[in-house]
Amino acid sequence: MTHAAKLILENVSMVFDTNGQNFTALEPVTFDVPKNKFISLIGPSGCGKSTIFNIVAGLQAPTTGRVLIDGRDSTGMIGQVGYMLQKDLLLPWRTVLDNICLGMEIRGIPMAEARQRAAPLMQRYGLGGFEKSYPSSLSGGMKQRAALLRTLLIDNDVVLLDEPFGALDAQTKAHMQEWLLELFTDFGRTVVFVTHDVEEAVFLSDDIYVMASRPGRIIEKLPIDLPRPRERAVTSTPRFVAMKKYCLDLLHIAAKDIEAEAA
Ligand code: ADP
Ligand code: MG
Repeated sequence: MTHAAKLILENVSMVFDTNGQNFTALEPVTFDVPKNKFISLIGPSGCGKSTIFNIVAGLQAPTTGRVLIDGRDSTGMIGQVGYMLQKDLLLPWRTVLDNICLGMEIRGIPMAEARQRAAPLMQRYGLGGFEKSYPSSLSGGMKQRAALLRTLLIDNDVVLLDEPFGALDAQTKAHMQEWLLELFTDFGRTVVFVTHDVEEAVFLSDDIYVMASRPGRIIEKLPIDLPRPRERAVTSTPRFVAMKKYCLDLLHIAAKDIEAEAA
């Protein structure tokens, strides 16, 4: 564990009490995310990915463990990280520009100033011309761009992204991944990303944490030492293909274990 890491989870676990029965959603997990690194959590539905995010965001108190940001105990504290939920949650009655400004507005930045900061970024990151449009006129990919810009403009160093591209078609998704890499380079944030998609995780990440369910836990850390900047062509290199296969095999073995237990 690097103590200089931006974000550290130390033995964080979650046991839910459902109708008097204890349910272990997450066994103690420990991991760290170095400053300006991009890490992904990958694993089957129900393995505790969103639970980890809710704990890091301070929305749920863990049963055990602590969350450290810049070495400070931030367990249970809200407003310390940017958090983009699975659904884009754009407000239909606000323009796209004012949706992007929402996070800044909540932080007390005057609306005129927020708009001044957001407008050039809309131009730069593929939303130019849509400032005065409403979310209903945006494509799925554009909605996710808007939601992501809103999250980044809150200026938290640590950003949590929960399956932001999960609902997009394959081609839009590929574009969005490249767009996100550009943003990641420009904004220099520390990112934790959740996905079901192994290729996406390998393409974007510095480290992948592979998870299994019942109980939710981390089964392996996989460093992705592909050089940056990364372009799509990297996905057909032997190294990329080998890492992707290794990751798929791990998920497959974890799923088999669960089937065997259930039988
Ligand atoms: P993932 O995001 O990996 O799909 P979640 O973190 O949403 O998984 O959920 C992990 C497990 O915890 C699931 O089995 C889910 O049903 C359970 N769970 C999540 N939130 C609660 C809650 N508030 N009360 C009881 N069980 C919960
Ligand atoms: Mg989830």
